[in-house]
Amino acid sequence: MHHLPKEDTYLHKGLRKKLVEELRTLGITDEKVLDAVNKVPRHYFLDSALERYAYENRAFPIAAGQTISHPFTVALQTQILEVKPYEKILEVGTGSAYQACVLAMLGAKIFSIERQQELFKQMNQFEYLKTLNGIKRFYGDGFEGLPSYAPFDKVIVTAAAPYIPEKLIQQLKVGGIMVIPVGDEEQQMKKIVKTATGYTEEVVGKAYFVPMLTGKQR
Ligand code: SAH
Repeated sequence: MHHLPKEDTYLHKGLRKKLVEELRTLGITDEKVLDAVNKVPRHYFLDSALERYAYENRAFPIAAGQTISHPFTVALQTQILEVKPYEKILEVGTGSAYQACVLAMLGAKIFSIERQQELFKQMNQFEYLKTLNGIKRFYGDGFEGLPSYAPFDKVIVTAAAPYIPEKLIQQLKVGGIMVIPVGDEEQQMKKIVKTATGYTEEVVGKAYFVPMLTGKQR
C-alpha cells in the first residue's frame, strides 16, 4: 500500500542493478535511461505481497484491474522518446506512475492522464511521488489529450490504442516524437515523428498492454 513508508535497502539496490544489466543485454543502450531505471525504486509501486518480485522483468497487477508495465517496455518507450531536460511530455495512462517517475528522472516535465478515478485518487497518497518534481497528474480521457497544456515535445501512450489518436498528433510539436502501442492483444510499438505536413511512423517492436479505453471511469 502506497501510504506505508517503504525503505530502499541494499538488497533492493542490488536487485535493481541486476535488472539494469538485464535491460542492457536486452538492447537498452541509452545510459541516461538505464541510470533513470536504476534510480527509481520499483518496489515502492507494488503491493507489499509482490515487492520481492519488483526487480524481475515482468508486468504486475495494480489497482482497478490495471498493470505496471514490464521494466523492458518502460525502458524501451523511454529510450525511443530521446528525452531531454525540461521537455514537456504527455503521458496517457498514469497507472502506478512508475513510467512517469522514470521520465521525471530524466528532467522532463510530465503531464500524465489516468481515466480510472480509483487509481488517480490512490496516487494522491503516494508519498514517493511527492518527493519528485515535475509530474502533474490529471483525471481524464487520454484520447482528448490536454489541449490547454499543448504543444508537447513528446507523447507516450501506455495503453493499447486501437488507432493513432488524431488529437494527440495535433498536440505534438513539429519534430516531436510519440511512442504508442497500436493493436488488440498483441500490439505493434510505433514511433511517430510529427512533420510539417503530417507524420512518419516506424514499428519498433511488440507490446502487450491493457486496452486504451474511451471516457472516464468512476
Ligand atoms: N504507465 C503505467 C502503465 C499502466 S497500464 C505504469 O507505469 O504503471 C495502462 C493505464 O492506462 C491503466 O491505468 C488504464 O486505466 C489507463 N488508461 C487506459 N485508457 C486510458 C485513457 N483513454 N486515458 C487515460 N488513461 C487510460
